[in-house]
Amino acid sequence: MNRKKFLLQEEDIPAAWYNIAAEMKNKPRPLLNPGTKAPLREEELYPLFAKELAHQELNQTDAWIEIPDEVREMYKFWRPTPLVRAFGLEKALDTPAHIYFKNESVSPVGSHKLNSAIPQAYYCKKEGITNITTETGAGQWGAAMSYAAKAFGLELAVYMVKVSYHQKPYRRSIMQTFGAQVIASPSMSTKAGRKILTEHPNYQGSLGTAISEAVELAVQTPNCRYTLGSVLSHVMLHQTVIGLEAEKQMAMAGEYPDVVIGCFGGGSNFSGISFPFLRHKLSGEKNIRVIAAEPASCPKLTRGEFQYDFGDEAGYTPLLPMYTLGHTFSPAHIHAGGLRYHGAGSIVSQLRQDGLMEAVDVEQLDTFEAATLFAQTEGIIPAPESAHAIAAAINEAKQAKEEGRSKTILFNLSGHGLIDMAAYDQYFAGELLNYSLSDEELEKTLAPLEKIIR
Ligand SMILES: *Cc1c(COP(=O)(O)O)cnc(C)c1O
Repeated sequence: MNRKKFLLQEEDIPAAWYNIAAEMKNKPRPLLNPGTKAPLREEELYPLFAKELAHQELNQTDAWIEIPDEVREMYKFWRPTPLVRAFGLEKALDTPAHIYFKNESVSPVGSHKLNSAIPQAYYCKKEGITNITTETGAGQWGAAMSYAAKAFGLELAVYMVKVSYHQKPYRRSIMQTFGAQVIASPSMSTKAGRKILTEHPNYQGSLGTAISEAVELAVQTPNCRYTLGSVLSHVMLHQTVIGLEAEKQMAMAGEYPDVVIGCFGGGSNFSGISFPFLRHKLSGEKNIRVIAAEPASCPKLTRGEFQYDFGDEAGYTPLLPMYTLGHTFSPAHIHAGGLRYHGAGSIVSQLRQDGLMEAVDVEQLDTFEAATLFAQTEGIIPAPESAHAIAAAINEAKQAKEEGRSKTILFNLSGHGLIDMAAYDQYFAGELLNYSLSDEELEKTLAPLEKIIR
């Protein structure tokens, strides 16, 4: 048997997604209606999301949710994805640790995002919705949603964070190739965009602002809904196909991970790789560590506050219980655009609150050093986002070496970086910086939060 790469068959694609909320002892706190502060009812989400997605969002009772056949058929385009033993990286680090990665970069759009874009487009189509809106940071989610929308015959408008619109022009071209309309955010096309542009004419955008614009357009357009690529519980649910496959593949390798690592923007790929393993920790069968790796410049899990906050900059969304830096936080322009988000999803936030997971923050220069070593030893150029997980995995492997003991590490390679080469160029030219964030700066966006959680 090949000990390097572990492959499954099409019939091994999971038949159901895993809903960890059903098995958590402390359930995630409810979403709140921002006006009344009462727990949100499912119907209140219907103007925003397809009904089935609204139902999944609030479902805390069914541990397994069947994947529709049409979605599984489309998953077959690229799933199951390979699990790979990173022998090259292990050798370069001279570590006794065994390092595995789940390669989600093999999807048609180059990242894990398609795992949720496909079902979101499917449920919208099934309910007769014709138009959808969304936002995108680095363009990965926008690319995935553009392809999924086209596959199900939906019209899509994407608000792309302005700094990425300029830093990553090819992602914009990809979305346009799939037939989506792409608008740089903030834009003059929405009230939220106009407000911020008149206050700060040179504002380069944030995911929070782009979400406000996409939500505003969706609720004002007939037969239109909004879709989101991370943060929400139904997105985490869809991504569990990653970990469910990885679980079978680790068994093929004859191992079980001691540590599972994912990079962290809003939490979707981290949740996808880790929740299926965490279920063995919740049930007491296994004592596994799971680690979220976030950028030092956007450290919601390590330095944020656990509090109710809006998911967007303008305050259009329900209040979400999350580790947050404050919804008006404007992160530095790091190249890992997909990680520049102010908050963490409500499930992850509860798990963190309960000590069931860990978080580390990584400096930008360390992520590119890790990315370069990974590329040279494993032959895959990682996305700058994924490089945060690689850097954390390398740290774990170095620790194993210092402690002189073996350790099995699994991380998620959430995407490839072939459209991010401008960022690598800047790194090689010595033009990239680390961004430190002072407590005073953090306080500016944290202090105004209403203290609903005491
Ligand atoms: C969007 C993205 C991320 C961050 O989002 P999560 O929801 O936290 O997973 C990470 N890696 C890649 C490649 C992405 O496209």
